[in-house]
Amino acid sequence: MTSYSEYTEYTVGEPIQDDRAPSGPVNERWDTRRFQAKLVNPANRRKHTIIVVGTGLAGGAAGATLAEQGYHVVQFCYQDSPRRAHSIAAQGGINAAKNYRNDGDSIHRLFYDTVKGGDFRARESNVHRLAQISVEIIDQCVAQGVPFAREYGGLLDTRSFGGVQVSRTFYARGQTGQQLLLGAYQALSRQIAAGNVEMHARTEMLDLIVVDGRARGIVARDLVTGRISTYFADAVVLASGGYGNVFYLSTNAMNSNATAIWRAHRRGAYFANPCFTQIHPTCIPRSGDHQSKLTLMSESLRNDGRIWVPKAKGDTRPPAEIPEDERDYYLERIYPSFGNLVPRDIASRAAKNVCDEGRGVGPGGQGVYLDFADAIARMGRKAVEEKYGNLFDMYERITAENPYEVPMRIYPAIHYTMGGLWVDYDLQTTVPGLFAIGEANFSDHGANRLGASALMQGLADGYFVLPSTINDYLARNPHKDEVDAAHPAAVEAVRETEDRLARLLAVDGDRTPDSFHREIGELVWEFCGMARTEEGLRKALDRIPQIREEFWRRIKVPGIGEEFNQSLEKANRIVDYLELAELMCLDALHRAESCGGHFREESQTPDGEAARQDEEFSYAAAWEFTDTGAAPVLHKEQLTFEYVHPTQRSYA
Ligand SMILES: Cc1cc2nc3c(=O)[nH]c(=O)nc-3n(C[C@H](O)[C@H](O)[C@H](O)COP(=O)(O)OP(=O)(O)OC[C@H]3O[C@@H](n4cnc5c(N)ncnc54)[C@H](O)[C@@H]3O)c2cc1C
Repeated sequence: MTSYSEYTEYTVGEPIQDDRAPSGPVNERWDTRRFQAKLVNPANRRKHTIIVVGTGLAGGAAGATLAEQGYHVVQFCYQDSPRRAHSIAAQGGINAAKNYRNDGDSIHRLFYDTVKGGDFRARESNVHRLAQISVEIIDQCVAQGVPFAREYGGLLDTRSFGGVQVSRTFYARGQTGQQLLLGAYQALSRQIAAGNVEMHARTEMLDLIVVDGRARGIVARDLVTGRISTYFADAVVLASGGYGNVFYLSTNAMNSNATAIWRAHRRGAYFANPCFTQIHPTCIPRSGDHQSKLTLMSESLRNDGRIWVPKAKGDTRPPAEIPEDERDYYLERIYPSFGNLVPRDIASRAAKNVCDEGRGVGPGGQGVYLDFADAIARMGRKAVEEKYGNLFDMYERITAENPYEVPMRIYPAIHYTMGGLWVDYDLQTTVPGLFAIGEANFSDHGANRLGASALMQGLADGYFVLPSTINDYLARNPHKDEVDAAHPAAVEAVRETEDRLARLLAVDGDRTPDSFHREIGELVWEFCGMARTEEGLRKALDRIPQIREEFWRRIKVPGIGEEFNQSLEKANRIVDYLELAELMCLDALHRAESCGGHFREESQTPDGEAARQDEEFSYAAAWEFTDTGAAPVLHKEQLTFEYVHPTQRSYA
């Protein structure tokens, strides 16, 4: 067994560069790249097969668009229907620089807000492209019939999300993800019916097949029969979502997992900024140890809800009995210009601080109030109901408290992962022919994602960016040799997959997959969550190999592999979490700065604010896999800022 001290002795390899983003004025780079990219003649497209893993907003949009262009698409999801992807849970909205409200918004402002909101750890070229494409996304979705909310004059309505002072978030009540996904799904269904997309639901990718250095296929397991099969293509696109469930408790769908990207990482795709995970400030606090899931209360609630805690420590009076002058509306006090709409990282950290001071509310003091009394008095209950009704109902169903009458209680929780597979401007990973889109890539959000920008990025990647850039790869890399299941690379990948599953079944130990998942999740939350220290991270890195060793001695997976076996599915995903968690902690250990969503206690300003260390850490950390438990190699991608210059972020 490798001890952590060996693992922490990583080596620094050659710097990595994104050589696909053209130089020149930032607002011309996307046009330039699209013009430079080679095209595939429409008549030749049907000769190319593209595998798309995932049917969320990123994958659904990509599959539909690629098929519409004429490619043959083979697509996968582990749910029983593509439309059940985790994206369906997105509540609050999607950003776009439409400036319908004439409140000073513009593409440049969205670009600026996103680079600043990400704490200057994202690429300017990518973020600018995202801001440009944002306006096209709304047009595309409206054309599909997505029922965005409208204001009285008929224009699409908007609301504000954290970290911005304009109103640019388009929404469909508290169900924006669902409506957008139905739009993508209907476009995909059309292509499935036309025979251009071959859809494999309830099928999980368990490995990547790399032939002569290029991604050429996947190994997948039919989750109903347990059958292992291989699928081949000219390029593979991973749209498999984020890895927030490594923390066990998160707002993500229960089955969201890291296997597709982690298996690709093991096959050569670098993993970037794994420690950049997002903590969302407005989740329903955990109610006890029995819990296996956390529930998000949309950030949109911060438009009208006011966040407060009692001024005095240990004040356990019911909220209605705490007079106005004994309440601390701490976000409005500390950040008067943005108030309750500061970015998520700032709001989360502030909530943790007041709870750590002993001023938290609810069981265990792990909560703060989100109060709508003022909004109800100002707008009337009906207007509040119209805007947020389904979220209020959901809150009441879960907590048995009526938020129209008593303030909601909220606490930060894991919600999104900014880290993911490293991709260049074309969204291609370090394995030629392997692309990653949506939350699966290390994305455009730097160290902190602004609210309502994940849907924007997923749809930008799927509808617009990938369909333009993948042509270039296919045109420049015609595959002369057909690959099939007999190819040694495929045989090897299948053998490894089968061996791993057989090993899991053979241990026959005494601990459930869930018990290991909970243990690793709690460890990562404690030491690699909102606040981190070198000492804590070293402790975690010491413990993870021990948990891994115990896992392989004590895991209990009942049943057999050739059947529907959810314990086997879970255990197999935990194998990957046990490795990914280690990389997250190493990444967090090496990044000895506070930045975005993560607060490194050794790196703070005299007044306790996060202190970024630009001189040392103005780069994306792209990690190369070497072996399980063996130190990875770090490749740094230096970030340059020509337009939005790094400053100490201020929302005061
Ligand atoms: C509760 C909640 C609310 C949110 N609200 C908002 C919001 O209002 N605005 C916003 O911008 N963002 C929001 N987000 C974030 C946003 O929803 C996600 O980042 C986004 O939907 C991710 O989309 P995706 O297409 O990348 O992945 P997903 O939607 O997670 O889809 C992943 C797909 O990959 C498939 N898959 C994964 N692994 C495999 C495998 N090994 N084999 C086969 N298939 C696989 C799955 O079956 C699925 O189809 C919210 C997130 C949560 C949790």
